[in-house]
Amino acid sequence: MSNSPLVVYTKLSPNHSGKRTMAIDRISPHCVVGQLSVESLGEIFVPVEREASSNYGIGADGRVAMYVEECNRSWCTSSNANDQRAVTIECASDSAEPYAFTDVVYNRLIDLCEDICRRNGKTRLLWLEDKDRTLAYEPAADEMILTVHRWFWNKSCPGDWMYARMGDLAQKVTARLADGGQK
Ligand SMILES: [Zn+2]
Repeated sequence: MSNSPLVVYTKLSPNHSGKRTMAIDRISPHCVVGQLSVESLGEIFVPVEREASSNYGIGADGRVAMYVEECNRSWCTSSNANDQRAVTIECASDSAEPYAFTDVVYNRLIDLCEDICRRNGKTRLLWLEDKDRTLAYEPAADEMILTVHRWFWNKSCPGDWMYARMGDLAQKVTARLADGGQK
């Protein structure tokens, strides 16, 4: 298991459960609720009492950070079952609904999801939209599925802006993965 080569800033958080008990077959994008830098987001994940972290973060300028190594289970989605399987990504966003991301952040999210799929041997990223259908779905060995925080906790995350683009994200990443020439 490896970490993303897109990472340019690392500040490891103590808030995680150690090694995953499940193989990675999900990606969960989140909204930060603030146009924060990767450094500021990293500071949020330092205090143990906050009991929060994510594997990766994308700052308002599009830089990618790592807070919990990909091999470890982050504390991000209010769901042990999800976080054991999911790579979690906090994305800088506006601080009010619809919690929009800037283009640079959204495009970086596409890059990061592509990288995560490639390194984990996945050739398709799926958005099934419906919570029950998604949680019941058994992905094939080469499939990755998108999940969202709002399915596991009473909050908007990843926000209506990103929620409306989950299908677009899945489609764009899968199109890139289909291009065998790309590395
Ligand atoms: Zn969230």
